[in-house]
Amino acid sequence: MDENIIVQCTNCGAKNRIPKARLNDAPRCGACHMPLNIMSFHDRPVVVADSSFKQEVLDYPGLVIVDFWAPWCAPCRMVAPALERLASEYAGALKVAKLNVDENPVTASSYGIRSIPSLLIFRNGKLVDTLIGAMPYEEIKSRIDYHGAFHSN
Ligand SMILES: [Zn+2]
Repeated sequence: MDENIIVQCTNCGAKNRIPKARLNDAPRCGACHMPLNIMSFHDRPVVVADSSFKQEVLDYPGLVIVDFWAPWCAPCRMVAPALERLASEYAGALKVAKLNVDENPVTASSYGIRSIPSLLIFRNGKLVDTLIGAMPYEEIKSRIDYHGAFHSN
């Protein structure tokens, strides 16, 4: 059985179901036939910084969850596997980003991050939800579903 992922077309916004094995074959959008931008496809958390936050999160056409974390934070380590799992399960429909608050104080303070982990959900560059603390996988997933991602399987 092929494993499929959902890739959203950056031209027309249509969501395309692509077998993972065919990701390298330059797939095209089924609706508008433009080449799909596989660069926008992520199945693992991506690291973002003060310098890349605008491009990676605010300018991203879709759903992004940003994990504000730090290496010394034990609850952050507890939430990390849930985020890795979500990144894989929602590949193409959700971008999971991680921002180290120690190294990126500008972004952390501009969102008023006072405790970590804080999970901020953005849709089309707009902050739509904030989850504070080490949420269990099911709870994060239900918030993601609520904000409009759908499962890739
Ligand atoms: Zn398209």
